[in-house]
Amino acid sequence: MTATNRRRVLLAKPRGYCAGVDRAVVTVEKALEQYGAPIYVRKQIVHNTHVVRTLEERGAIFVEETDEVPEGAIVVFSAHGVSPMVHEEAERRQLKTIDATCPLVTKVHKEAKRFAKEDRDIILIGHTGHEEVEGTSGEAPEHIQVVESPDEVDKVNVRNPDNVSWLSQTTLSVDETNQTVDALRQKFPNLLDPPSDDICYATSNRQDAVKEMAPECDLVIVVGSDNSSNSVRLVEVALDGGASAAHLIDNASLMEEAWLEGVTTVGVTSGASVPDILVQDLLRQLAEHGFDTVQEIETAEERLTFSLPKELRKDLRAEEPAGS
Ligand code: SF4
Repeated sequence: MTATNRRRVLLAKPRGYCAGVDRAVVTVEKALEQYGAPIYVRKQIVHNTHVVRTLEERGAIFVEETDEVPEGAIVVFSAHGVSPMVHEEAERRQLKTIDATCPLVTKVHKEAKRFAKEDRDIILIGHTGHEEVEGTSGEAPEHIQVVESPDEVDKVNVRNPDNVSWLSQTTLSVDETNQTVDALRQKFPNLLDPPSDDICYATSNRQDAVKEMAPECDLVIVVGSDNSSNSVRLVEVALDGGASAAHLIDNASLMEEAWLEGVTTVGVTSGASVPDILVQDLLRQLAEHGFDTVQEIETAEERLTFSLPKELRKDLRAEEPAGS
């Protein structure tokens, strides 16, 4: 048997769309159907170039801030969440808002509000400048400080070391976040944990699947956009887990043939904002290079779904024929 014959793909499961992304994308699609184009969307609805372009073709207009939305128009807030200031600004401009913030991000916002009400200093582990971190910080700007990694714990200053709690962005590396929490706890032994994990099920499940397959992989390819936090983390997890190389690509056309030289096993996965059609494109391309055996590595079964935002559900219900 030649090396080419032994070429295979390990395909991570779960991968791709999570419940929060699915809900956000369907929200924009349903809003376009219900109210007609254009529908404005603040920021990328999810961090994926393909998804954004497809929705743009259907009449969505993506803006950075609500002041770019004409008064009275409809604006959808992305899955990453927004700060209360953004809601206030939208109200001032009399925009009709549909909030597609993932319920698991909303959960973190609520924890921030509760800790702030208890007048605690809150350490938010996350990436400065990421939309989710800006949204969560905006819930309690006087109480929250952002820490990116264990190395930054030294510089944290609080009012009362016995009254500190931590929260995190939902899409971080589980292992690195644990290290940051350990460093925080060394500094603040009475550190209070959030009531449940902030890193969401989808992030940790996708990381677990990559950890499982990485030791067997000469190369891991993660399909995802480079502004997608959870996708970038999957590359890091693959390398930490023992893969010889790992790359993030937006779509199959960006795969470089040179990566496949001397490679027998390629691991494939995708970030939580990636439609599976992009993974199937990559598998086709890999098959053309002799990687035509695909073995799924399943580490968890996901069944979670979220209902659409209530403001949209209300209008959809009103349109239903009587008695339906
Ligand atoms: S990655 Fe997690 S928090 Fe983010 S949208 Fe998906 S389910 Fe929600």
